[in-house]
Amino acid sequence: MTAHLIDGKKFAARLVDKIAATVTDIKVTQKVTPCLAVVMVGTDPASQVYVRNKGERTKAAGMVSIEHKLPATASEGQLLALIDSMNKDEEIDGILVQLPLPKQINEASVIQAIAPEKDVDGFHAVNAGLLATGQRGLVPCTPLGCLLLLQEHLGDLSGANAVVLGRSNIVGKPLAQLLTAAHATTTIAHSRSRDLPEICKQADILVAAVGRPEMVTADWIKLGATVIDVGINRVANPADADKKYRMTGDVNFGSVASVAGAITPVPGGVGPMTIACLLRNTLIAGCRRRNIELDGY
Ligand code: NDP
Repeated sequence: MTAHLIDGKKFAARLVDKIAATVTDIKVTQKVTPCLAVVMVGTDPASQVYVRNKGERTKAAGMVSIEHKLPATASEGQLLALIDSMNKDEEIDGILVQLPLPKQINEASVIQAIAPEKDVDGFHAVNAGLLATGQRGLVPCTPLGCLLLLQEHLGDLSGANAVVLGRSNIVGKPLAQLLTAAHATTTIAHSRSRDLPEICKQADILVAAVGRPEMVTADWIKLGATVIDVGINRVANPADADKKYRMTGDVNFGSVASVAGAITPVPGGVGPMTIACLLRNTLIAGCRRRNIELDGY
């Protein structure tokens, strides 16, 4: 491996420390403790782990964590009523509904029901519109985490050729907007793009967010490029009888690391930044709702 390893875990830990220090400060000076409410519908094991983790990290940063659990049979009306009560609750600064939702509930309706100023996932159409038009809103956590990692590693992104593989509303599209706002020349590629390897080879910055295990290989990479791997894929692990599955990204780390200038690992790259940015958004939402000035975020 010749590429520099971009350590998302380390950077995220520094960001969380900074958030925790700010929380301590506003508790004293403003008598305010930011509060994140997470809603989980059903008992999907992966979602349960994510929700527990978010709660623990929220508390560790000094904020208040609330968890609401609804049964897998809950109706859309029940969930919307809960969101309505949280929208009206002055103590709650951030609302996150853990996805995916059971099939009887329409995800889009649920996301649009969250008050935009409490939408710490940044998925509401109002926040998407604010991002698209260069205005202040709440930015989706994973794309924001990718941008912060890139700026930490590369500094100014002006004029860089950035390629984002994937155009989902939660990762690809908002990330492309953030990169464009940071003055990169940004291309979005997707499943209908022609000659993906050739498009990717033009990239000084390549972000892979496709959900295809190790799809991006060394021959797609420009020598010295910075590669951010958003993908989280669970694949069979026949090499280890004790561990039937392993996590891997959308990038073939072993081969790409010999051509790229820098690369994020999976796990330990974008994942820790996502949760750190969720805490950041909760702090920001809590301060904006109360007109508290917040410097350095
Ligand atoms: P989606 O499935 O919503 O979107 C995937 C995108 O990749 C689509 O735009 C799709 O194109 C494109 N795509 C799929 N297959 C190909 C292909 N063969 N060639 C080119 N493009 C392709 O996924 P998400 O954006 O939600 O997530 C992407 C990955 O990131 C997943 O592995 C997910 O687990 C991970 N993730 C990680 C997070 C983290 O915290 N690290 C957070 C969120 C997601 P089209 O639009 O044409 O269908």
